[in-house]
Amino acid sequence: MSEAKLHTGGCHCGKVRYEVTLDLAEPAITCNCSMCGRSGTMLRFVPAEKFKLLSGEDVLTHYRFNSKVIDHQFCSVCGIKSAASTTSSCKPCRPVTLTARAVEPRVSALTLRHGVDARQRVDGPFRDV
Ligand SMILES: [Zn+2]
Repeated sequence: MSEAKLHTGGCHCGKVRYEVTLDLAEPAITCNCSMCGRSGTMLRFVPAEKFKLLSGEDVLTHYRFNSKVIDHQFCSVCGIKSAASTTSSCKPCRPVTLTARAVEPRVSALTLRHGVDARQRVDGPFRDV
């Protein structure tokens, strides 16, 4: 049974703040795509309607690579990636991806699900996805 609740989260310097409804007990994903594998990012996916950016849109910087459908959003002041979103026109298919450790209260021992990544869906281990 889901224990989804309203949480806040954001970057290190506090410029980027958001609220999100999710169950903190559900597992985060350790993505090992070419970007997350380098940064050790642990992700949570939530439907777009469960995420609301409260502040910091003016300091967000954006990065896209490969197919450029995922908009990785970083705080330009402290460099923390709080979230990413896709550019799909299908809203139910457009989840917001959160850096699991940026959601508050910070959970010291996240439940993790390994091996869920985009890289496994393409040929070759070194292709940028
Ligand atoms: Zn910041």
